[in-house]
Amino acid sequence: MTAPILRRLNDLRAEHGTWIRAGESVAVVPTMGALHAGHLSLVEAACAACDRVIVTIFVNPRQFNNAADLANYPRTEHEDAIKLAGLDVDVIYVPDGDQIYPDGYATNVSVSGVADVLDGEFRHGHFDGVATVVAKLFLQTGAQKAYFGQKDFQQLMVVKRMARDLDIPIEVIGCATVREASGLAMSSRNLRLSPEGLERAAKLYPVMQQVAARLVGGESFAPLADEARIKLQAAGFNDIEYFDLRCEEHLQLLDRPTRPARLLVAAWMDGIRLIDNIEVDELKA
Ligand code: AMP
Repeated sequence: MTAPILRRLNDLRAEHGTWIRAGESVAVVPTMGALHAGHLSLVEAACAACDRVIVTIFVNPRQFNNAADLANYPRTEHEDAIKLAGLDVDVIYVPDGDQIYPDGYATNVSVSGVADVLDGEFRHGHFDGVATVVAKLFLQTGAQKAYFGQKDFQQLMVVKRMARDLDIPIEVIGCATVREASGLAMSSRNLRLSPEGLERAAKLYPVMQQVAARLVGGESFAPLADEARIKLQAAGFNDIEYFDLRCEEHLQLLDRPTRPARLLVAAWMDGIRLIDNIEVDELKA
């Protein structure tokens, strides 16, 4: 059954009120739409854990640092609703712009530390936009659990920090990255790649896996990163913004995975910025 699409906060609150009075648990899955199997895996996890599930779709202008990227971002509300119809979603919340940023809106949520590095360096203001809209969506939906993808690992860390720091009573849960058969991490931005671009982009994952395996074998990161950058350039990634090994908790740079660690990459293919990350097994002393 297709879930109702609500566009006004008052309507969402009315629905939410009946659930809370009935003692039901509520989950939220924030998205920007153009839904794929990665998003749907989050929705499935939410449905399995909670009585009620709200999927939000909002292309948040404040988290785009590039006007063309915002203009070109795919908007497929009708198809998204059809994809969600197969799952046990209760409400699709597609807020009108003024429900998030009403006239005179002046508040910004800014996280430091984990938000300052990686995408924080290359996409100025991006995480302020993310933290602000996610804080609002947490408060508007009143959910007890929120589901995010590890695909955007830094975003997951920023959102966890924000919810803890602001005492928002919500548990933020990170779910595994869903990949195409080729290994390419699913992303709404993949829609803008040509078939050849998709094939070349799929080279990223095996390169990351090889580096992770050699790190676990005891090699240090710097020479592996140099080698990987050369391979990625040969595959057609023309601008590799970062290819880093960092600890999971604080996203500090590492040369060896001596703590829970991630390999995190941002690189451009045919004018599209792709990000990916994988876990690296910890080296035991
Ligand atoms: P987006 O619509 O791209 O803002 O993503 C909405 C949510 O879906 C975020 O929590 C993302 O991390 C998550 N997500 C996006 N792609 C994937 C994927 N391939 N696997 C798992 N989660 C994903």
